[in-house]
Amino acid sequence: MSESNLLVQTRASLPLDPTLITPLLHRPGVLDRRARIHTTLSKDPLFNKSVKAHLSYHQSQLRSLRIARALLNLKTSEKWSEEDWIEAIRQQDDPMGISLHQDAFVAVLKSQGSDAQWAHWKPLVEAGKVTGCYAQTELAHGSNVAGLETRATLFKDGKEWKFRVETPRTESVKWWIGGLGHLANHALVQAQLWIDGECKGPHLFVVPVRDIENHRPLPGVVVGNIGPKAYGGFSATDNGYLGLKDVTIPVDFMLSRYAGITPEGGYKAAKHSKLSYGSMVALRAGIPEAVGWVLAKGVTTAVRYCLVRRQFGGSMGPQGVLEGETAVVDYASVKFRLVPLLARTYATILTGRAFFDAYKAMLADLMKGETGGLGEIHTASTALKVCVTEDCVAGLEEARRACGGHGFSAHAGFGQWWANIVPSQTYEGDNYVLPQQITRHLLKTLAALHKNASHPLTPSTAYLRNITNRLWSSQRSPVITPSSWLKPEHQLAALQKRSVTLLLNLAAKLKAGKPWNAVTYDCHTLARAHAELYICTSFRSTVSALPDGQVKDFLTKLVNIHTLHTLVHSSLSDLLEAGYINPTQSRSLKEVYEKLVEGVTREEMVLGTDAFGFQDWELGVLGREDGGVYGGLWEEVRSEERGREAEEARQVWLSGRDGKAKL
Ligand SMILES: Cc1cc2nc3c(=O)[nH]c(=O)nc-3n(C[C@H](O)[C@H](O)[C@H](O)COP(=O)(O)OP(=O)(O)OC[C@H]3O[C@@H](n4cnc5c(N)ncnc54)[C@H](O)[C@@H]3O)c2cc1C
Repeated sequence: MSESNLLVQTRASLPLDPTLITPLLHRPGVLDRRARIHTTLSKDPLFNKSVKAHLSYHQSQLRSLRIARALLNLKTSEKWSEEDWIEAIRQQDDPMGISLHQDAFVAVLKSQGSDAQWAHWKPLVEAGKVTGCYAQTELAHGSNVAGLETRATLFKDGKEWKFRVETPRTESVKWWIGGLGHLANHALVQAQLWIDGECKGPHLFVVPVRDIENHRPLPGVVVGNIGPKAYGGFSATDNGYLGLKDVTIPVDFMLSRYAGITPEGGYKAAKHSKLSYGSMVALRAGIPEAVGWVLAKGVTTAVRYCLVRRQFGGSMGPQGVLEGETAVVDYASVKFRLVPLLARTYATILTGRAFFDAYKAMLADLMKGETGGLGEIHTASTALKVCVTEDCVAGLEEARRACGGHGFSAHAGFGQWWANIVPSQTYEGDNYVLPQQITRHLLKTLAALHKNASHPLTPSTAYLRNITNRLWSSQRSPVITPSSWLKPEHQLAALQKRSVTLLLNLAAKLKAGKPWNAVTYDCHTLARAHAELYICTSFRSTVSALPDGQVKDFLTKLVNIHTLHTLVHSSLSDLLEAGYINPTQSRSLKEVYEKLVEGVTREEMVLGTDAFGFQDWELGVLGREDGGVYGGLWEEVRSEERGREAEEARQVWLSGRDGKAKL
């Protein structure tokens, strides 16, 4: 076996079959559907991903539109189900206008529109006649939704009630709207509802923006593309702007599942102020699982490549070829980056999955008017979003760096994954704005517990009950030997201590007279601590519920690595400062963590990444299952297309020799 096949060699002696783990990560039927849709798409060169890295922004936008059109056609010709259609969009591996149409426009229309409204729009959407986007953010306001200026004013036109929708000044023009730049002919516009000179706050309105037949802007509408984005990310998404002047829409274009307009032109408020909020959490609720899968691609690529890549430690063989070099995966400095990343990926995907299931259950209750579970889902989704987006962005870059120079090639895949995931820290709520909502919720719970020690708590805040125990503040970690750190109760107690301590510190600052603004940075630290505790608890409980056996043993190892990594890398200073652990316990924590990571074998790293079930077409060249990295890179640079480019470059260079350079 040649040295470059250490990946294949390692795979031959895995401790267990990865396909025993795969079903725990994917929902039933997902992989079969993925393969089936891929077979269909691979027949059309339009879907060939290898061209993407070579396109300009404008070319990416056009390719994205061609793909959207082709997918809509295939949806009909192949009789795709909704799941097939969503899978086909996801396989493009890029956020695109059509993704926003599905995930933001259709999803919100369905959940916020009344049944009658959905019955009206559904056939138009399904026939591909109506394409849409979700238009909330304005040029001068995003985070502050209550401060949006776009307005919809109710007026009577003859016998009919209508809305006049307008963006009164440049600052209130809608901006950043995914899918609006080129694709959408309708926008779901967040606008202040004005009735009889009174503002009723932001509501959603369907506003036609382009003609369904000729796709030209409708009267009163100024619409277009906001241009290229940072790091080349979102190059396939046509983020757009929208100015509205005296645009008139029928009264039933206001989404009215919850609030609405009476036949007399009065305002009918939602029964519960939070009702409309529940379905709006949908996009955020799906983020942990989604970003977990992006990180999975990065980790799989890095583990595979680091088994193939060798540096140092060899000697020149008789044929002048280096032999016996060290596989870079065997350097502790590589392993100590990749093993915790593998554990984090499992933690993110499994927590994300469990959380999304909880979200769906809450939504079903909400549709029946039961709002009890909303607070828990809201706080948890917000905290998780902040934590997982930051960790996945950082994790992808860590994985890229583990791959050395080739990690920076577009053929590795990291660049595109990273550039597309970076803004997840900003959209769906900025990661320094959202934590303030979590903090307010935790402070409210704290105050309620001070008043009444048996105040009912939700699962994710149950740990706050500790503060009602007078002895708790002086309690110390009971860990004596390093191996005690492997006990779940000691790990979770330490994470709980950290979160409560941060909350009490923040509350003390406010009590001492600091204004809210002065603690907004602390809110972020607290939100992360709360989320890290949530993830470690959820990951542990998912794995504990598995039947005893090799799969459970392997995943328990990952749970311990992830939890101890969280303790070592983000909690130690807080725990030492609080006096919860002493320096000896801190040292033993690091010691047991190091032993765990050192003990993970190459086989386990391949097992963990193969279990994700990726096919080669989902990854870049460095992530090839057969480890054929060098041959793959060579093929990429020697293709006919690159040859044509080289010829063009030669001609450009020579043509400038006469002193008249041409553009
Ligand atoms: C790739 C991408 C796609 C998008 N797609 C859409 C879309 O389809 N539809 C749509 O409607 N919008 C979309 N957006 C807009 C996005 O939702 C907003 O940009 C996001 O919510 C952040 O709001 P902002 O731009 O107003 O940031 P700002 O709130 O202006 O943030 C600027 C800075 O101020 C800080 N800050 C703001 N308020 C506070 C506060 N109260 N306390 C402390 N710090 C504060 C922030 O932390 C940040 O550092 C998209 C954005 C991006 C980047």
